[in-house]
Amino acid sequence: MRSKFLPVSLAALAAASPSVFADGAFYGDPPDATHPWTIHDMNRAQPARVEPGSFSTQEQPGKPPSDAIILFDGSPASVEKWAADKNPLEPTKWIVKDGTLQCVPGAGYTKTREEFGDCQLHLEWSAPAKPEGSSQGRGNSGVFLMGQVEVQVLDNFNNPTYADGFAGSVYGINPPMANPLVAPGQWQIYDIIFRRPVFKDGKEIETGYLTVFLNGVLVQDHTALEGGGGHMGRSKPHPFPEKGPLKLQDHGNPVRYRNIWYRPLPKRASEGGDTSTMSPEATAAKRKQIATSIRDAAAKQQGKEQLLHFMESLTYDADPATITKVTDLATAWHASFKDLAPDKLADKKGEVLQVNKAVQYLVRFKMLPDSFVLNAPLKKLITDLGWDE
Ligand code: MG
Repeated sequence: MRSKFLPVSLAALAAASPSVFADGAFYGDPPDATHPWTIHDMNRAQPARVEPGSFSTQEQPGKPPSDAIILFDGSPASVEKWAADKNPLEPTKWIVKDGTLQCVPGAGYTKTREEFGDCQLHLEWSAPAKPEGSSQGRGNSGVFLMGQVEVQVLDNFNNPTYADGFAGSVYGINPPMANPLVAPGQWQIYDIIFRRPVFKDGKEIETGYLTVFLNGVLVQDHTALEGGGGHMGRSKPHPFPEKGPLKLQDHGNPVRYRNIWYRPLPKRASEGGDTSTMSPEATAAKRKQIATSIRDAAAKQQGKEQLLHFMESLTYDADPATITKVTDLATAWHASFKDLAPDKLADKKGEVLQVNKAVQYLVRFKMLPDSFVLNAPLKKLITDLGWDE
């Protein structure tokens, strides 16, 4: 749907403050007990600008998006980010060659020195071009989120194995929905969205999830972690720390990696994140916060603008002190023209219609009473002057 209030100028968007968007208020459905914003709320933060990267080809890795945190791009600085798993003071013994990070069988897992939690993770891997071994023995490695949940890396191009151990599986939990691998020796691309389990007071409130694209094909769709999986044993839900290292598995095969980066993800509603639906407590707090910021801006304004902004704040928090303030401001604004002759009112038309729209919205959603001081007089004035036609 296109809003009749748009387009807003780019300069206005850049200067996003409540005052710029007075015309965007009194439009969509208001906040409720679990939604702190109105529909089409111009007080919501603008999305952060990210310059997109480019897609990889077999010949060349793509460019990460501008806000990605680079974990490995072949440069010496990025190699420094990796350590031996067992002794994190030691550099990794994996080989760095031609911009790739290659597992050395027997060297052990490698892990990032940096620790992180929920993320969008991108990486590319390549199993040895000449297949050796079978089932779990062919081109096996693994991507361990927070060091403990494995998205399997395995050459299953032409290599059956148990389904929950396939490339693209959450190992020991869920097989991939498809097998979109290309031939060994070529680059396979993982785009992974990881959400860790969240516990509160010893109780699991989020089980944790993995979504995985393999070569652009969805293979895990918000798969529940059920404790994180693993070999042989059925995993049980358990608390995860806030963050952990990314580990790559040494399973005895010289698998190569390239172009590894991640973007941290914002908090979910269960952790107090600013999402579309929030807990009643978080919603009430957020509504209060929005109302306060609009009132702070309104306090520096005058006349109709000030009136409209205090009215807008009632959308989020209809507190009695502000209703009194709005009633006083409305009375003063009305007094400035109510005794003028009808033929002197033409230049007030836009202003009156604008304030009336705000009044009707707030009355309709019970943020102001029917008896509000402007409700009946503005309706009458608009009808009398034929401004409603
Ligand atoms: Mg593995």
